Order: sequence, then structure tokens, then C-alpha cells
Amino acid sequence: MKKITVIPGDGIGPEVVDATLKIIDASGARLDYEYAEAGQGVMEKDGTPLPDYVIEAVKRNKIALKGPITTPVGSGFRSVNVALRKKLELYANLRPARSLKGISSRYDDVDLVVVRENLEGLYIGDEKYLNEEKTEAQAIRLITRAGSERVYKYAFDYAMREGRHKVTAVHKANILKYTDGIFLDAGRKISKDYPGIEFEDRIIDNMCMQLVKKPRLYDVLVCPNLYGDIISDLCAGLVGGLGVAPGANIGDEYAVFEPVHGSAPKYAGKDKVNPTATILSGVLMLEHLGMREADVVYEAVREALAEGAHLTYDLGGAATLSQYTDYVISKIK
Ligand code: NAD
Repeated sequence: MKKITVIPGDGIGPEVVDATLKIIDASGARLDYEYAEAGQGVMEKDGTPLPDYVIEAVKRNKIALKGPITTPVGSGFRSVNVALRKKLELYANLRPARSLKGISSRYDDVDLVVVRENLEGLYIGDEKYLNEEKTEAQAIRLITRAGSERVYKYAFDYAMREGRHKVTAVHKANILKYTDGIFLDAGRKISKDYPGIEFEDRIIDNMCMQLVKKPRLYDVLVCPNLYGDIISDLCAGLVGGLGVAPGANIGDEYAVFEPVHGSAPKYAGKDKVNPTATILSGVLMLEHLGMREADVVYEAVREALAEGAHLTYDLGGAATLSQYTDYVISKIK
């Protein structure tokens, strides 16, 4: 029995994680769960939203399934998600966006994978005010060759393993010549070790337009941290929205699986939101563990969505989270 750490998170986190575990259990996957709470709730109890015991629990089990965690805007505690990724050195953020039958969206054959550098760039939130009046502020945008090379290596290895044909580097090296220059250069260097995979690059603004107009032209996209964050929501929008967009944070030793979406506080506890993004993050986790139940869960989700009879509100349906979850379970073979 493999033990994993479960971090339910804030807002809708506990509901979508609970639905995912029910489905994983129904698939026959032999997993055992160790719960560790992080986020707003623990902040009040422990004085920190990310107590050391949460990090210890992930280190012990090496794998975690995580719900979203709220980050206050503008003030308050810093992002638990950023801190967790940093403490566990989860340097690659994998975010596949794949069309699913039954979900109406602009295209029906999108199959993209965003690989986002997860530990550097503007997203680390290293900022300071430049005067006492707080009318000027500055943010550090750190990009290193080593950090960039390892995320490209991850992306190319992923592309090889998954039979993908092309890797596109996303950057703004025409303007940010040093930081994005290093990032792009790292891609060019690593690509030479993978002659079977095509390599190209796109400037981020053009990339956004191209993705909306011609998503089929692209395959695996490698992005610095903040661009990757934004592009992955764009890609989620191409396949039906945040309710169906899964993710994985991967490092050399540990991996944390979580949906792309946030804690959607206004829907917390309402049994309303779509748990598919977290269920598909669970599928990525089962694949990572080499468990064949990954296919069982994926097929059940695929069938349930394709029938279109029990969709949640975000996909145009009227099913509650629990009704949809039970329906997916009924599809497990
Ligand atoms: P959000 O992803 O929570 O919500 C954006 C929109 O998508 C909302 O309209 C919401 O209702 C909808 N939505 C999100 N998940 C859905 C689901 N499963 N089913 C149906 N609809 C869904 O983004 P936000 O409102 O910008 O952020 C809320 C909080 O979440 C913030 O504190 C933010 O910092 C945090 N956040 C956390 C993570 C994470 O933990 N990895 C990621 C993103 C945002």
C-alpha cells in the first residue's frame, strides 16, 4: 500500500480533493492517506499557513495530492503554493490541456502541455518598496541557466516519454535580453540532445494570439514562471475552463499534484464546483506512481463527460459536485 500526503487546502479545496479520493478508491488503486492541513485555517491555529509538519509529511511520503490554497491579494501572508514548491524544489510545473468530448469549447482537438519553470522569474514575489511613501516598488526577476536547463530537460524527457513531437520555448528575449535571453539559450542548448524532437521559440505576446487562433500547431510549451502561469489559464480556457485543468509540480525527489484553479472562495462548501481538474491531477499522480488505475479513472471521467448528462454548472450542466462524482464512480469498470 503506497502512502501519499493529502493537503485539502482552502475554499473549494476540501470538496474537490475528497471527490478525487473517493474516485481513486473506487478505481481499486491501493493508496493510503496521511492528511496535512495548510492554508488559511491553519494560519489561525498555528500562526503560519505552512507549518513545518506539512513539509515533513510530503518529504516522508514523497508524493502529495493538494487542493488550492488562498493567497491574500496585496497584503497578508505570502503564497503557500510558492513556498511549498520552493521548499520541496518542485522545479517543473506540468499542466496538460486536452479537449474532452462532451465539453463545448472553441476547438475539439486541442492537445497542449505547458511546462512552466516553477521556482524562478517574477513569480517568486521578491519585491520591495523604493520609498517610505510606498509610491514606487521593484520586483526581482531572477533567471538562472541551471534552473532553465533543468526545466527544459524535464520537458524534453517528458516529450520523449509521451511520444510528443515538438517543444516550443516561450519568452520575451527581444526586450528582456538577459533574463529571457538565458532562458531561450538554455532551450536551444538542451534541444541539441534531443534531435528527434523539433524545437522552436515564440515571443509570449505572439504565442497568446497563436494559441487562440491555431492551438493545433503547438505541442509542448516551455515557459518562465509567470508566463507559464498565465498561458496555462489560457490553455485551460481552450478546453473548457479551469474546472477541467489538472497540474503537477515535479522535482527530482518529490511531486505535488494539484489543479490549475484556485480556491474559488465564493463556492466553498456549496457542493457546486467541478472536481474534474483535481481528479485529472489524481490521474497524473497515479501515472507518476506507475499505477494502472490511472487509465481506469481517466476513462471513467472521459465517459461521464462525453455522455453530458451530469455536468456541473461551469460546463453548462446542473449536477452538483457530489452527483457528478457519483456518476464518474458508476462509470468505473
Ligand atoms: P480561481 O481559480 O479560484 O477562480 C477563477 C474562476 O474560476 C472563478 O470564477 C471560479 O469560480 C472558477 N473556478 C475555479 N475552479 C473551479 C472549479 N473547480 N469548477 C468550476 N469553476 C471553478 O481563481 P481566483 O479567484 O483568482 O483565486 C482565488 C484564490 O485562489 C486566490 O487566493 C488565489 O491566490 C488562489 N489560487 C491558488 C492556487 C493554488 O493553490 N495553486 C492557484 C490559483 C489561485
